[in-house]
Amino acid sequence: MDCPNCKEPMIVLELSEVEIDYCISCKGIWLDSGELELLLDEDSNLENSNLFNTPLNISEEKKKCPICNKKMGKVEIGDEEKILIDKCLNSHGLWFDENELHQIIQVASKKNKALDLLNDIFQNEINPTDEEEE
Ligand SMILES: [Zn+2]
Ligand SMILES: [Zn+2]
Repeated sequence: MDCPNCKEPMIVLELSEVEIDYCISCKGIWLDSGELELLLDEDSNLENSNLFNTPLNISEEKKKCPICNKKMGKVEIGDEEKILIDKCLNSHGLWFDENELHQIIQVASKKNKALDLLNDIFQNEINPTDEEEE
């Protein structure tokens, strides 16, 4: 599968027993539909929950789904800190730019094994915002 952002071939990583597609060049991550729920250990369908709010007007450039090659829509995640991600309108999956998946897992779940694994992958680039030091 090619990266929807820079068109480079993506590699498959196993994250918390979920296979994710990862672009080495731009550090984006593609998750097939349902994989985010697996990463978050959620039974519910997050794509239909209030975690995902669809914004009305987004000027950010639209990327194409790597599966159906149709332009993806933008969805907004989070209550306080909004994160914009790309979602295939045919429900093939979700595209996360660098660090976005990490931010979303932080928003959705404070303690998560996938978060630890993401920290390992991006250890030099991740700056958690909710650290409670001193
Ligand atoms: Zn890329
Ligand atoms: Zn698609």
